Amino acid sequence: MKAVAAFPGSHEVRVTEQEDPRISQPDQVMLRMLDIGICGTDKEICTFEYGTPPPGDDHLVIGHEALAEVVAAGSAVERFRAGDLVVPSVRRPCVHPGCLACRAGHQDYCYTGDFRERGIKEAHGYLAEYAVDQERHLNLVPRDLREIAVLTEPLTIAEKALGQITWMMQQRPPWLDPETPGEERGEGLSALVLGIGPVGLLGAMVLASAGFTTYVYSRELPPSPRIDLVAAIGATYVSSQAATFADLAEKIGSIDLVYEAVGHSHFALEALEVLGTNGIFVLTGVPGIQAFVEADPARLMRDMVLKNQVLLGTVNAGADAFASALRNLDAFRRRWPAVVATLIAGRYPLEQAPDLILGRPAGIKTVIAFDAP
Ligand SMILES: [Zn+2]
Ligand SMILES: [Zn+2]
Repeated sequence: MKAVAAFPGSHEVRVTEQEDPRISQPDQVMLRMLDIGICGTDKEICTFEYGTPPPGDDHLVIGHEALAEVVAAGSAVERFRAGDLVVPSVRRPCVHPGCLACRAGHQDYCYTGDFRERGIKEAHGYLAEYAVDQERHLNLVPRDLREIAVLTEPLTIAEKALGQITWMMQQRPPWLDPETPGEERGEGLSALVLGIGPVGLLGAMVLASAGFTTYVYSRELPPSPRIDLVAAIGATYVSSQAATFADLAEKIGSIDLVYEAVGHSHFALEALEVLGTNGIFVLTGVPGIQAFVEADPARLMRDMVLKNQVLLGTVNAGADAFASALRNLDAFRRRWPAVVATLIAGRYPLEQAPDLILGRPAGIKTVIAFDAP
């Protein structure tokens, strides 16, 4: 079968011929790939800044944002049969008996760091015609989400974050009613999303649909389809070329939530300075090597203590986040059909993957489609 792999030794990224995977355990499922989204992580792997092949291999098959169709299932598989649509999670548990997170099936909270990640760390990914996976790592996709389900994995970043901050936003302030329904979690609160890439935009959609008064802040200037999207979901876009963080704080008032989706350390530190009282700051971007910046840690500590602030890092994601991402995709499709129709910038054949990954992304999400014309 064909696959796209990064070869760290020779610094090559190309289409390769791989042996077809086979079901070797009763709990395994054979998948035919349909859509694979590409993102900044793939670009980092293909520029050899990130990513590790499986032990003993000279290459890593990339691809972690997958939608697939089940073609065969092992004898012990109960939840899936041929024809079902699935999205796999990315992380696979470490083997240490003492890792309570992995042993409980929550490898996104792995303590040891010896987890593997398909298409990223020590496990081949999904940018291949076929793959085999264990049943427990797959999530069933309703058939009517076929066109957009490739967005599930990037959406789980915001879903997991919102799942965690819900508790902090609802149970921590003693004057709030902990029984507030989920759709109103953000009612009366403001959220500032940093970044207008796919993670930021999907995050803004999750926050806006949870009732937050949502702002998106990035460098981009209009006209831009991404800025149009922000307006279409009822959020407000502000360009960093037109307003500073201090201007933003003045405009928004108290900033209750910052959702960082850039991975830019300087930008994040500046934003931390304008986080409001009782505010939560969520970090989702993974910075590469960046210029050293000066900071005033005493001021940050003072603010965090005196304003009851929370700084939360989060990596995606467990089964709960995949389930809520699929529910939200369905909700988004009903609430903002025109927006959802623009999320996928285009579908391209496998052969174009290396150029698309290494090039400048156009539109919101670029997808490699195995049935592309
Ligand atoms: Zn990704
Ligand atoms: Zn672990």
